[in-house]
Amino acid sequence: MTVLTRDAEERDVEELRSLAATAGRALEGAPAEEIVRWAATEFGSRFCVTSSFADAVLVHLVSRVAPGTDVVFLDTGLHFPETLQVRDQVAGSLPVRVRSIRPELTVGQQDGRYGPRLFAREPDECCALRKVEPLERALSDYDAWAAGLRRDESPTRAGTPVVHFEAARGKVKVNPLARWTAADVSRYVSRWDVPVNPLIARGYASVGCWPCTRRTRNGEDPRAGRWPLFDKTECGLHR
Ligand code: SF4
Repeated sequence: MTVLTRDAEERDVEELRSLAATAGRALEGAPAEEIVRWAATEFGSRFCVTSSFADAVLVHLVSRVAPGTDVVFLDTGLHFPETLQVRDQVAGSLPVRVRSIRPELTVGQQDGRYGPRLFAREPDECCALRKVEPLERALSDYDAWAAGLRRDESPTRAGTPVVHFEAARGKVKVNPLARWTAADVSRYVSRWDVPVNPLIARGYASVGCWPCTRRTRNGEDPRAGRWPLFDKTECGLHR
């Protein structure tokens, strides 16, 4: 079992850019476990994984390959109770450290400052306050982060690289499941008995904050249920 080997050590931006470019080419056809192993070995405690806990596949995989890795969860205050249950189940059963990162403002404080139901009027601004700023704050502790994006989720994710450099953040972004399909996810869940958000079985192909998520219909893009009233498919976390 691989353990984190590298000391916490901030890396130069040009070094990160070069590492990401080399790894992106070398790991394009690699199994997800190998991609995670590379990131955990290269960055040690300055590598984390993010999860929205629609399922715990990536977190489970990381816990096998690199136990002890930090898991960042953006606790917007507007999640379904089922999502929080999956988070708590993972925190209590897998060898990872789950960090719940909250926005600067509670939902009530945001309502007071911006008016109620900002998500129904200005979802980009709401996501910026409740997701993007907390992520930026959390990522200040890391040089590299992983997320569970897959190319088959939507046309906007079809070009997702397995490893790349995010110039705007100065971070290495790792997408170990980029080449996986929904069937690969199902197989992994069955094989390892991975916790899955019960909302998936109730027709929510993608799970986010409750005000901005609806069930999807057969044949719809998995992310069609996110921000259904707006021309918006991403929260701004993935660039
Ligand atoms: S997903 Fe909706 S409720 Fe959640 S932060 Fe974005 S706009 Fe706000």
